[in-house]
Amino acid sequence: MAESSYDCIVIGSGPGGYVAAIRAAQLGLKTAVIERDKVGGRCLNYACIPAKAVLRSADLLSEIRDGEEFGLKVAGVEVDYEAIQARRAKVVSTLTSGVAGLFKKNSIELIEGDAALGAEGEVLVAGQTLTAGSVILATGSVPRTIPGVTLGGRVIGTEQAWALAELPARLAVVGAGASGAEIASGFARLGSEVLLLEALERVLPSEDEDISRLVERGLKRQGIDVQTATPVADVKAGESSVGFSYGESLSEVDYLVIAAGRGADIDGLGVAEAGIELDEPGLIKVDGALRSSRSGVYAIGDLVQGPALAHKASDEGIIAAEDIAGRPTHPIAYVDIPRATFCTPNVGSFGLTEAQAREQGYDVVVGKVPYGAVGGGTVYGDRTGLVKVVGESKYGELLGGHIVGSRATELIQELVNVRALEGGFPELARIIHGHPTLSEAVMEAGRAADGWLIHG
Ligand SMILES: Cc1cc2nc3c(=O)[nH]c(=O)nc-3n(C[C@H](O)[C@H](O)[C@H](O)COP(=O)(O)OP(=O)(O)OC[C@H]3O[C@@H](n4cnc5c(N)ncnc54)[C@H](O)[C@@H]3O)c2cc1C
Repeated sequence: MAESSYDCIVIGSGPGGYVAAIRAAQLGLKTAVIERDKVGGRCLNYACIPAKAVLRSADLLSEIRDGEEFGLKVAGVEVDYEAIQARRAKVVSTLTSGVAGLFKKNSIELIEGDAALGAEGEVLVAGQTLTAGSVILATGSVPRTIPGVTLGGRVIGTEQAWALAELPARLAVVGAGASGAEIASGFARLGSEVLLLEALERVLPSEDEDISRLVERGLKRQGIDVQTATPVADVKAGESSVGFSYGESLSEVDYLVIAAGRGADIDGLGVAEAGIELDEPGLIKVDGALRSSRSGVYAIGDLVQGPALAHKASDEGIIAAEDIAGRPTHPIAYVDIPRATFCTPNVGSFGLTEAQAREQGYDVVVGKVPYGAVGGGTVYGDRTGLVKVVGESKYGELLGGHIVGSRATELIQELVNVRALEGGFPELARIIHGHPTLSEAVMEAGRAADGWLIHG
């Protein structure tokens, strides 16, 4: 039985909620987390972590297959899909039990149940009314679908895709954003025949155009049939397959994955009854400290504005907890949050694309350097990767960074850090980088923007 009174109650234990709870407890607040499903939220149980665990198997397989170039002949490589799924489950349980352990270590009470806001200062769960000095809503998001299509049976969302019990022979993915590209790239390399459909003009439509172009080339090289500017229609789900049309063509696949974005999970949370204001369709309106329009109620993560990303949810959790504890906290520059897509080729980006910087009227300078320009690209076997720095000429400000190729999801952090520490591309150009590393291409992109590229 839960105690009845807390300084802070967090609803939802995803990367937003669990980090908020730990920070609140660190600051001396008596804290409880309410979770209706599994500790760790969707991120750890169904989304980010399982996706990356399965993709890791696909990446390793690609490396083994490319081994000959490195003098390694590996015969008889086989995909044991069941074992891949078993590893996924093990990775998930290792990380979720880690979160449960952190709750214990920080004396955070975990309450199981479906929570809702009650009267001011109250939270209702499992027939109990708890009182809370403050409440942090961190209930995340649920998948959206496309008009006329209902999720169910063989029409699945992205979370179900990573947990499929069988490796599909034929898979179609609707939506070539980050999640759709990851699913297409993962399953195609594991052996599925994959059709990737995007209604907009290019894959990863919110990335810089140069990046989209290289990603599309990379996906096609994996045998994926990529169809852009192609909406899907006439979806008919059967017992053992799904039929649909796209452009002039008809197709039938084992599973149709809808990767069409997500919407805030607020059904039954009592948000409307509490008079909490919403802004963009269904998102909870918050100020810079994540305070909602109701006093003492905060909202974070996929429930609020900004990119729906785990690290963004966690950062907001820290801000909310610090604000509740009366501590000074930091603002979030949403545009500078790193974005990572773990398909092959990997993509990491932050800030403005070249087109956005031009639209906003900056005097734009661009530094573009292929991985092949530095020793690391050739040594480690990826000469086609690209680092693109978008800056403005007057002050050398770093407006955006875009990287595609091996380890782009790690490399992007350097550009984010340079910007966060108020450096520009001229400073980036003069920071000494280890040799031979791919990060030298990041430094060289800074030099290219500054007009003195050495290797190129
Ligand atoms: C397939 C996929 C892959 C992704 N990959 C990445 C990635 O690589 N990197 C990245 O940064 N982001 C990724 N994301 C996005 C990321 O998962 C989300 O941004 C993140 O999970 C949001 O965290 P959150 O804390 O807001 O909520 P969630 O992780 O959604 O957790 C919310 C929790 O609240 C619980 N809950 C909901 N309502 C109630 C209630 N009324 N009472 C009690 N509990 C409740 C839910 O059960 C859930 O456990 C991915 C998303 C998907 C779908």
